[in-house]
This record gives sequence, structure tokens and C-alpha cells, in this order.
Amino acid sequence: MRAPQPRTKSGAAPTSEELHKRRGDAVARGVGSVIPSYVDHASGGTITDVDGREWIDFAAGIAVTSVGNSAPRVVEAVRAQVERFTHTCFMVAPYESYVAVCEQLNALTPGGFAKRSALFNSGAEAVENAVKVARHATGRPAVVVFDHAYHGRTNLTMALTAKNMPYKHRFGPFAGEIYRVPMSYPLRDGGLSGAEAAARAVELIEKQVGADNVAALLIEPIQGEGGFVVPAPGFLPALRAWATAAGVVFVADEIQTGFCRTGDWFACHHEGVEPDLVTLAKGIAGGLPLAAVTGRAELMDAVHVGGLGGTYGGNPIACAAALATIETMHELDLAGAARRIESLLVPRLRAIAERDPRVAEVRGRGAMLAVELVLPGTLTPDPVATAAISAACHAAGLLTLTCGTYGNVLRFLPPLVISDGQLGRGADLLDAAFG
Ligand SMILES: *Cc1c(COP(=O)(O)O)cnc(C)c1O
Repeated sequence: MRAPQPRTKSGAAPTSEELHKRRGDAVARGVGSVIPSYVDHASGGTITDVDGREWIDFAAGIAVTSVGNSAPRVVEAVRAQVERFTHTCFMVAPYESYVAVCEQLNALTPGGFAKRSALFNSGAEAVENAVKVARHATGRPAVVVFDHAYHGRTNLTMALTAKNMPYKHRFGPFAGEIYRVPMSYPLRDGGLSGAEAAARAVELIEKQVGADNVAALLIEPIQGEGGFVVPAPGFLPALRAWATAAGVVFVADEIQTGFCRTGDWFACHHEGVEPDLVTLAKGIAGGLPLAAVTGRAELMDAVHVGGLGGTYGGNPIACAAALATIETMHELDLAGAARRIESLLVPRLRAIAERDPRVAEVRGRGAMLAVELVLPGTLTPDPVATAAISAACHAAGLLTLTCGTYGNVLRFLPPLVISDGQLGRGADLLDAAFG
């Protein structure tokens, strides 16, 4: 059922062009949008704008609507919850769904040990709280992060994020005690093995920070905004082993990689890595704002009562949506769906790479896939071609995103419920956009 369109004075529904004009006079310029079209409705694999134009969705609202937009179970759960109560604040008057979401997260995240969870509103807030927990539990100040990392836009998470433009430029000064070390980036680090790349990072930590000063090592198991960088095999397990030996809290930021996106419940599952803490958001609640920190009970419970929380954290409507989302992921085997997307899309990407020398690499896992573009015959990033191909996709009706420190990565994050037909059509449009 489509909601009725608000009418203008003349009685006609506003067009994207009209809305864009209004936006210019109302919305802060600093908030950007990928396409200038305004959404009317969206489903499993498409978005339809107010002008009636349909887009194949290879973005999923940045890896959020993995179960699709307005997924039936989510809609039903939200509707039922919104009629019972909308907000009491879990810190004031608690409710079951918050507890149930925590139970689910404790069971689904890697590691068979006792866990606790706490719920928040955004990914950045989850990362902030993971750092709070790690610092509190260890009594140490330093946080180690990686080149190309993205962890959010709040003050602490800007400091944790690597890229200046657009995330940090002129927004400092930033939070202190953040130390950055090199990532394993197989295309760009001369073919270091995972163990060698980990040793390089560890040496810098030990020499420049001192393991005893490090509260947390924070890492995306596959980097998101930084370019869908998949570390060499062995990199994550080696860092995990070092953190254990050094008494450092290993925090996996699975905000983008989590909830079936990479073909398993969490990206850490692929290498058997068990983080001490995991940060979660994006795909967790079918589009409703929810985030979480899940991790070892002794770390999470180290914090005094009242030390964690927030007015809206674990809002009952978002919790109802999360429970419905998780149920949908089980029922439709969306981890399997992500692997199927990989098996269908990767050959199409490889075919493009074979004929187009600008494609240096096809990479990713599950339904988190990307191509990195360079000047042919070099490793020099080509953000101009990346932007041009992306624009051609948008003009043709395929919603794609770019990423990467150098702005030269095209990434593909379809909803996991996208149909084979929609996926194939999207791949055709992408293929044509490369020329
Ligand atoms: C999106 C993202 C964040 C920040 O999440 P917000 O909900 O935008 O605050 C943090 N870490 C990773 C890996 C992300 O992809």
C-alpha cells in the first residue's frame, strides 16, 4: 500500500526537481545525496522515485536494508509495536524486546563464551561505547586503528576514521590517544602475507605506543568506506592472537559486514576469529535505527551501573524490527542469499575486468563486492573514471556507491533479497556503464 503523496498548492505531487529546489532552501548543504531523485517507495531490490522512475538498488541504503525495504515481517512487527508503546526509555521502564535482541546478538556473534550486549542508535555510537568499555575494563587509554578505516562521524569516531575529506576536514581538534597502523591491503602492499602485514602493524604498536598502553585494537574485518579492502588471509587471526597475548581488547567493527552481508552471519566467522567486542548497526533492524555492542561478559559487565545508555538506545520499535529482521534472515537463509549474489555477480565483474584495463581488482565477499579502478598498467587510483562510471550507472537507473581512500572503488551492496532478475539487470546496466 502506497502512502498518499503530499500535494502542492496546485494539487500535483511534487517532482524530484521541485523537491530538490525546496531542499536547497531548507536542508544544510553539508548533508549530501548520491542521486537527485526523491523516493516514493522501495521494495526488495528496487527504489521508485516520485517521478515514477525505478532504480535497481545496489546500495541498500549503505548495507542497511538487507532484508529489503518494508520487509513484510518488519512492517508487521513495527505496526504491532507502535500500537502497544513507542518509547519508555529502557533506562526508565524496561521491556522484553530489548532483552530479546541482546539474547539474539549474544547467540549469533562469533565466540561461544558468555556475552552481554548494550543497544544504541547509530554505528558511531556503538563504536564510542565499545571504546568506553575497553578503556574502562583495561584501565588503559590507547586505541589502535588502521589505515583506510571508517568508524563514524562523531568526534571520537572521526579520530578513529582515516580519511580527511569529507569526514574530518576542518572538524578538529579530535579525540586523543588514537594510533593508526597499516592495514593489510593485498593490491597495494606488495603482496605481504596476512602474517607479515600483522607483524608490521604489531611492531609499530609495540614501538610507538607500547602494548601495555593499548585498551583496544579496533578493526573492520573487511573495510567498508575505506574501499572494501579484504585483508590477506591470516591477518585477522594474527592480530587476534597478539591482542590476546597483550591483554588488548580486540574489537571487530562489523557495522557494515554484519548480519549475513558477507555470506555468513558475521565476517569474523570466515576466519574463525572471535572478537572480544563486536560493534553492530546497519543491517540489524531492516532500516530502523539501532546499533549494539556485544562482547565478553566480563568486559561488558566491568562498567558500573548507569555508565552505558542513552535516551533512545534500544527503542522498542527498532527492537521489534531487529527481531523480525533476524527471523527473516534465518527463514530466508540470507547468508546463503549473499553467497548466491557473489556467485552471480563476481563472474560479471570479472568479465568487465578482463576487457577493461582500468579495473585493477575485483574483490569482496558475499554481497559486499567492489572493483578498484586505476590508470591502466599502473596502481595509480582513477577517481575520475570511477565517478564517470558511477554517474553512467545512475543515469541508466542503477543505484551504485563509490568508496575508498582514493575515491576509486565502485561498491555493490544489493539487498540480500534482490531477485536474480533484478541482479542480472543491474549487472547488465553496470556492464554497459563501463562502455
Ligand atoms: C557506517 C559505519 C559506521 C558508522 O555508522 P553510523 O550508523 O553511520 O554512525 C561505523 N563503522 C563502519 C564499519 C561503518 O560502515
